[in-house]
Amino acid sequence: MNLDESPWDVVVVGAGPAGLLAAGRAAMLGARVLLLEKMEKPARKLRITGKGRANITNMRPLEGHLQEIQPEPRFLRQAFQAFFNRDLVALLEAQGVPTRTERGERVFPASGLAWDVADALVAWVRAQGVEIVSHARVERLLIREGTFTGLVVAGKSSKVPHEVEARCGILATGGLSYPATGSTGDGLRFAEASGHRIEPLLPSLVRIDTRPAHPTAQGLTLKNVQLALWIDGKKHGTEFGEAEFTAKGLAGASVLRLSRRIVQAMAAGRKVEVTLDLKPALDVAKLEARLLRDLDAHRDRSCGQLLKALLPAKLVDVFCAVLVLDPSGSAAQIKGTKQRQLLSLLKEMRFAVTGHGGWEEAIVTAGGVSLKDIDPRDMASRKVGNLYFAGEVLDLDANTGGYNLQIAFSTGWLAGEAAARKAAGPSWDGLP
Ligand SMILES: Cc1cc2nc3c(=O)[nH]c(=O)nc-3n(C[C@H](O)[C@H](O)[C@H](O)COP(=O)(O)OP(=O)(O)OC[C@H]3O[C@@H](n4cnc5c(N)ncnc54)[C@H](O)[C@@H]3O)c2cc1C
Repeated sequence: MNLDESPWDVVVVGAGPAGLLAAGRAAMLGARVLLLEKMEKPARKLRITGKGRANITNMRPLEGHLQEIQPEPRFLRQAFQAFFNRDLVALLEAQGVPTRTERGERVFPASGLAWDVADALVAWVRAQGVEIVSHARVERLLIREGTFTGLVVAGKSSKVPHEVEARCGILATGGLSYPATGSTGDGLRFAEASGHRIEPLLPSLVRIDTRPAHPTAQGLTLKNVQLALWIDGKKHGTEFGEAEFTAKGLAGASVLRLSRRIVQAMAAGRKVEVTLDLKPALDVAKLEARLLRDLDAHRDRSCGQLLKALLPAKLVDVFCAVLVLDPSGSAAQIKGTKQRQLLSLLKEMRFAVTGHGGWEEAIVTAGGVSLKDIDPRDMASRKVGNLYFAGEVLDLDANTGGYNLQIAFSTGWLAGEAAARKAAGPSWDGLP
């Protein structure tokens, strides 16, 4: 194929999950599609998702997905109706990648390899006839009289001309997180330069720094604990699940799920704290009764031994330090005020949040191209004709659980479909 042969029907910028689905769907509908990726390989980020296992979607019904998405989940209704979890699973199975559904309805490739998902999608895109060009960094968009007409590719490439003409463009350049994978916010700059509003960009699904931090407990992962978020002294929700002690604070699934609100509150200069309930299954009265029973039965034991019965080993020294207890001293030290302090530490271990991980560590970007400037029926820009957006570049993000990738897949599919239809013009004769 002669890549100089212009114009293309659809040019897609970014070969992440959103761009791949957009390009594949547009080509499936008969469009001549060029997919430009600035990195060496398509879908760098997808290949490292889910700790290398790719939690590609979630089998909860549509309403369940919407509950996990911010800031305007209803925006996604049409995209999810066009292409949802079962469609994705079917597409991958047809490409020879069976899937497996695990706890919490999370879906993974049965092989446990994110790499398989990425390779299968790239193969599917190629099979639809899409031309994928790597090492092609788009520098800016070409817009004439308010309509997209093409784009400029940086440097000189033997594969694509400096200026690419196309009837329609789809921006699927991702957000700002994990910039080493290629997601450096280029599309956000193109969007802003062409008159789109950008909602404030903040790292999300990210670890937090706390005071105190308990570095001696680093690496300890607690299951079935509850974290509560406090903003300016007022409780703003709880999350049940896993929490992990790090060198500087806390991480783990329940921390990540609270992180969006934490980062936003900190950016607004508010006082943020979290409390950790190590025994959420027991109310204070039940826990107190159990503690008194243990103390009574084991008065001859050391403090350390008694605490070991109540806590993971890595927290025993932490508790002794906070409560000023001698671990080798008698458990009988734990009485009166110390007993009340121990109870409150078990139910409400308090941390001031002093910071959070940056873009290099955040799993997603909160904020992005304002949804007010995008039509949810087809992902078309309301500011520039023939221009479409898909994936994390948009002001949409979700909790962990496979929801972020499904957003990328669904918005990509819908944008590809709409762009193909637009490029075909009046000759369009319906979807196959
Ligand atoms: C470590 C990690 C683990 C994750 N795990 C999960 C998970 O298990 N489940 C889940 O649902 N979500 C997960 N996510 C989130 C998910 O990966 C993203 O939400 C998703 O990849 C967004 O897809 P996208 O196509 O919009 O953008 P991206 O995947 O960011 O892709 C954008 C592409 O555009 C390219 N690009 C950018 N600018 C240009 C340009 N100027 N010219 C050409 N190309 C350009 C980039 O190189 C990149 O390939 C994880 C994220 C991270 C960082």
